Amino acid sequence: MRLFPLRSPLLALCVACLIGFWHALALAGPLSLLETDPSRALGEHALQLQESRVPLSLDQAMAEFAAGRFAVARSPILSFGIGARPVWIRLSVTNPTAGPISRRFVVENSWLDRLDVYFVHGRRSVVAHHAGDSLPFKERPQQARFFAFDQEFAAGTTDIYLRIETDDPIVVPMFLLDPQQSAQRSIHQEYSYGFVYGYLLALMGYNMLMFLGLRNKRHLMYAVFIAAFVLTNIAYTGHGYAWLWPENVTLQRWVIPMLMVIYGISGLAFAQSFLDTSNHFPRTHRAVSRVSALAALLLGLAIAAGSQFYALIVAFAFVSVFSCAMLFLGALSLHAGHRYSRYFLLASIASMLGTSITALTVWGFIPFSEWKYRAVEFGMLADATLLALALASQIRTIQQEHRIAEQRASSDPLTGLDNRRAFMEKAQQHMSTALRSQRDMSLIILDIDHFKTVNDQHGHASGDAALVAVANSLKISARNGDIVARWGGEEFLLLLPETRLDAALVMAERLRTTIAEIRVPGRNGQITFTASFGVVHNTGHRQLESLISEADNHLYQAKHSGRNRISYAAG
Ligand code: GH3
Ligand code: MG
Ligand code: MG
Repeated sequence: MRLFPLRSPLLALCVACLIGFWHALALAGPLSLLETDPSRALGEHALQLQESRVPLSLDQAMAEFAAGRFAVARSPILSFGIGARPVWIRLSVTNPTAGPISRRFVVENSWLDRLDVYFVHGRRSVVAHHAGDSLPFKERPQQARFFAFDQEFAAGTTDIYLRIETDDPIVVPMFLLDPQQSAQRSIHQEYSYGFVYGYLLALMGYNMLMFLGLRNKRHLMYAVFIAAFVLTNIAYTGHGYAWLWPENVTLQRWVIPMLMVIYGISGLAFAQSFLDTSNHFPRTHRAVSRVSALAALLLGLAIAAGSQFYALIVAFAFVSVFSCAMLFLGALSLHAGHRYSRYFLLASIASMLGTSITALTVWGFIPFSEWKYRAVEFGMLADATLLALALASQIRTIQQEHRIAEQRASSDPLTGLDNRRAFMEKAQQHMSTALRSQRDMSLIILDIDHFKTVNDQHGHASGDAALVAVANSLKISARNGDIVARWGGEEFLLLLPETRLDAALVMAERLRTTIAEIRVPGRNGQITFTASFGVVHNTGHRQLESLISEADNHLYQAKHSGRNRISYAAG
């Protein structure tokens, strides 16, 4: 009794070990084929062993198992990292019924170079399959983008031994599916990929058209970036090997790291263009270009040296750098107060979140679910949408600024009338039309009388108010199609297309009386003023300049003969 307290920690440890061992046995024990859950990968039911230097045969692997050298795998998806030594995975399943059960054993991964699968039933019956993307797609046991093996499981226990050898990240999501589950799963997956690719390709196509229409390089960069993501995704999900290059084993070997690097480079190039880094952050801009060039160079060297392992290391490292760089560039731009950097940062955060969730799911840090496994795609959908919106509103702002600038360049800020430049542009067109089609056209020029005195007596502000009042009455009197402009100081022009001289004179007279009736508040009470007019018709004029010059001569005459009157070429 006295010894018991001393022994109890030891006892507790033994019990804990036993429970752990039993638990491990229970988990690693045969899995009933009738109880597999299609939504949960089977890693927790498996045992694993990494080869040392020497490759093991199936018999040797079975002997290693018998010697207890396989370890319990702890997560639903087994993962061993990039460039890991070949691994053996053992999964024991039992068919509790009397007859055979058909199941599809799927390793939901498309990039493993070499997979050997053995279904061992009893002591002698071994069914072996060899797959992996180092073999042409056609030679796969099942024509599926993932590695799939159909097996009739006889009654009793079958051990599945799986050997994987690859330079790629060894990630092994295993499933055992009945034919219906398998069909449903692929329908579900194909539809969702259809949606993802359809959505992204639509955005890409739209921006490509925008580029062709607007010639704005940013749209092209965006389209290339999205295309690079879609292609990378098509490559690593196995769609590429299944649809696009089923015979090309060499391309399949390099395509994933190559596309990852292209994706990163095109993303950074888009960021540089969208955030205009060459102007705002020239040093960072150069650093980003150098990182891209370095990634391309290192990848080229790895491919030239024939090292798939280094190609992948370069690709994964560069994509990580790329994700951080996108966040950094977004934050830098936001900090500098640049418009649209908020969109960009949000887009990069969405994409990074998606990528991180997928990575954490794949490495087993968070529980597996299909949506988490594919979070990278949803991150990219959000990323692409936000960037497309940002591009669209950037274009809208550029167009608005353009319109405002154009308006500023063509209108007089005080009166809002056309300025001399805009008048000449528009009037030239009317002049040539009138000349070509022998149409009537008249021109009125008017100048406020003794305006200097108005300014002197009442101040510049009152002078301005008088000019605005004259401009308004010109606007009101003008018909649609007439051009009204401030020609300079207190001088105005009206071009009247399709107007004979007599009609122009009627209009000038109406303007003369209207202007004489204008009242503007001044320093010493109301200001009144008059204006003098020169009116001409286009007969005999081939040039706009000569028409204006004749009108100006008449204005001079009107001034000379006493002001507040109209002078015109009679006949
Ligand atoms: P005239 O009857 O011979 O045309 O005499 P005037 O005083 O109207 O002619 P002048 O060319 O000697 O003077 C024009 C004045 O118009 C001088 C200038 O200060 C004034 N002026 C020109 N532009 C503006 C403006 O934008 N605002 C104001 N308030 N005055 C202006
Ligand atoms: Mg004047
Ligand atoms: Mg004048």
